[in-house]
Amino acid sequence: MSLINFNTTVIKNLFSKPATRKYPFEPKVYPERTRGHVQNDMDVCILCGLCSIKCPTHAISVDKTEKTWSIRPMSCIQCRCCVDNCPKKCLSMDTHFTEPGSEKVTKTFKQSEKAIAAQEALMKAAKERAAAAAAAKAAAAGNAPAANAAAPAANAAAPKAEAPAAEKKDE
Ligand code: SF4
Ligand code: SF4
Repeated sequence: MSLINFNTTVIKNLFSKPATRKYPFEPKVYPERTRGHVQNDMDVCILCGLCSIKCPTHAISVDKTEKTWSIRPMSCIQCRCCVDNCPKKCLSMDTHFTEPGSEKVTKTFKQSEKAIAAQEALMKAAKERAAAAAAAKAAAAGNAPAANAAAPAANAAAPKAEAPAAEKKDE
């Protein structure tokens, strides 16, 4: 009986399509959710550095002065933590695996002019808001003496009102 099963399996495998791919002759087709390598859309990245902080293998580094974002692909374990934590959603997992190599390389990408301009506009708007808030505070402080001017008049009645309390204490 087992011999019949064995023969059936052999014949079936002889005439069926192989389960493996004939690499490199067949094109590389990865399943949709394959975690190949991390890629960054530098048009959107604001160099906040959160991905670098969250990366468990310290594969990512961010240089705000040079406006660059770097990754060491050989150190990346494809955990997807950076992708899930990016506030701008500019990171994604590409389905293609990093090409093997004999050296550890660091891939560096520069923030795009578009992203730099957008970030500068945001910072300018934030500065203007802060200046407006400071001006409003100063204006409110400028009005304060007028408001305080009424205080002595109001306080003038206070000693009379407070006197019984003081007397009570002495008893
Ligand atoms: S990729 Fe995302 S988390 Fe990393 S620096 Fe850019 S915006 Fe921040
Ligand atoms: S996928 Fe994981 S290991 Fe790779 S860079 Fe992102 S956080 Fe780091």
